[in-house]
Parts: sequence; C-alpha cells; structure tokens
Amino acid sequence: MSKHLDFTYTSYLSFLKYAKTIAPVIPLKEYNYQENKNCIILRHDVDIDIYPAYKLAKIENKIGVKSTYFILTTSHTYNPQSPLNRTRLLEMCNGGFEIGLHFDPTVYGDISHDEMLSKVRAECNILEDIIGEPIRSISLHNPSIHGMFPSFDGYFNAYSPNIFSDSVYMSDSCMNFRGKDPDEFIKKATEMPIQLLFHPFQWSEVSNSYKDLFKEYLFNLSNYIDEYFKTNNYQYRNTLKNEKLWDALFEKGIK
Ligand SMILES: [Zn+2]
Repeated sequence: MSKHLDFTYTSYLSFLKYAKTIAPVIPLKEYNYQENKNCIILRHDVDIDIYPAYKLAKIENKIGVKSTYFILTTSHTYNPQSPLNRTRLLEMCNGGFEIGLHFDPTVYGDISHDEMLSKVRAECNILEDIIGEPIRSISLHNPSIHGMFPSFDGYFNAYSPNIFSDSVYMSDSCMNFRGKDPDEFIKKATEMPIQLLFHPFQWSEVSNSYKDLFKEYLFNLSNYIDEYFKTNNYQYRNTLKNEKLWDALFEKGIK
C-alpha cells in the first residue's frame, strides 16, 4: 500500500492536489489522442454501490477535479434506476462529472460482437434516460478475470491500447497498486497520457478493511429496508416495533 494513498478520503484529496500539479486531470471523454500529450485520465468503476461513488465525487469537487464514473446496469448489489440513485447520478452529471457505462460482457453469454454492441446500446439507453445526456465512454467489468477486451466503435474505450498498458495504467483493484508507487507513477503524466482507476467502494473516512466496508454497505441497506417496510407494511411494523432491523439481526454489542 502506498505510504500516502491509504484508502482514506484525506489521503485521496492530498494525492489529487499533487496530481493536479503534474498534469491536467480529466474524465475519459475529454481525452484526445492527438491533442492530449500529457494528462491524467481519472476513472472510477462502480462495482458495489453508487453511494460511495457519490461521496467520492463530492471529494473531487472540493478541488475542482472532474472524472468519469462508470456505472453497471447489471449489478446484483445496486440499481442505478432506483429513485435515490437516479438523483445521485443526475447530480453528479450536472456537477460536471462524466457518467459512463461499466459493461460486463459475461452477462450475455456467448454472443457476437454485433449482438454485444446492441447490448451496450441498450444499457447506455438506461443510463441516458437517467442523466439526460448521451453516454460517451465505456469501461469493462473484470476484463482481466474473463479475458475479454471488446472495443466499441463510437465510444471512448477505457481499455484502448494507448491508455491501457502496464506503463501508463495504474489501478487500485483489490486495494493493491501492484507494486506501483502512485506518487512516482503519476510523474509519467508530464510526458504522456496516463490512466488511473480507483474503485469508490474501497475509499472511506478511515482506512477500512473489506469487512468493514461491506458492513457499512449492509448497514445502509438494512436501514433502507427498515424505513421502507415500516412505512408500507403493518406486520413488519408490529414485529420490529421500535427496534431497528440491524439490531434485531445482530445483537447489540456484537456488531
Ligand atoms: Zn468493475
């Protein structure tokens, strides 16, 4: 783990301030192969939940950094079309952040490239309906695991060879920078475009383990269920009374 980047918001903010002194920090849609001789493309793949992405965008906004947030429409753990997430995504888009499609090609099985492109367009339509703007950029979900690297005409592709190679790309996947020192790595951006990928779910106020990060996700989800069912279901209300679902499930003190 980097000395400076320890998965806290504080360290992220100071890293971005440093990055801005090295080269322009831009969302993928602003990258121009011909013109951007030096820049830092900043990208976020939203794998688990939109709320941490929304919070990270607020951090970036504090110092005027704009990036791309890639959103799944096929996730099991969040729904971009829920009323709350629609509001968050629209606010991020209106605040100058790019919303892109995080595409998981394994969802559809063995299909042709043309069929895959039509799936991409269908998923983009879902996000476009939310933000009221065309989707310009696509990143792939878990390509190094499934080994598929399709590229889609008409879009900025995060896995284009010129911005995706070991020498110009750094990711925080699995909370590990793969031997790269982020502070040193971004110095390359004085001479060439580089791409940074940070997964919002892994970042928080304090440096958390996955166990604590997922605990917070489940805690927030349980509060949502509680509020929704207490409003809409009298049997649930009678069963839980004033007790919170979280406390009913996990005895107080054992969390
Ligand atoms: Zn992903």
